[in-house]
Amino acid sequence: MDRYRYNCNYCGTEYTPKRRFKQKYCSNSCRVNAFTQRKKAKNNLPDIKKDKTPITKDKMSWSGVGNAAAGTLATNLVTSMFTKEENKPATKGDIQKLLNNGFSKMVLIKNLPPRIDGTRAYFDTLKQVLIYK
Ligand SMILES: [Zn+2]
Repeated sequence: MDRYRYNCNYCGTEYTPKRRFKQKYCSNSCRVNAFTQRKKAKNNLPDIKKDKTPITKDKMSWSGVGNAAAGTLATNLVTSMFTKEENKPATKGDIQKLLNNGFSKMVLIKNLPPRIDGTRAYFDTLKQVLIYK
């Protein structure tokens, strides 16, 4: 049994390593904290205080949250950009407008000759009548 004693690289506590040469810290907590500290110093990331979760996983979920938020934002932006005016939810005013004139369309009837006064025959699609104008 190895009785060699190490000092923790993070908190300085003397401990007996379970795996000699590979272990630098007295506990998982210190290992993670040291790793967080190094990462923080390097990337200036916000301090993540989760001793049991490996920092790499935390970092991934943090950027994952960022990506998800950015993705949602982009999706909303794209949706509003590409939602056509007629596909947007209709307000009461919109419906009233549609009822008044929305479906009314004057179509020139080409096989009816102009009247003597020069007006042409149109078909009103709403009233379904012929109109000269
Ligand atoms: Zn320690």
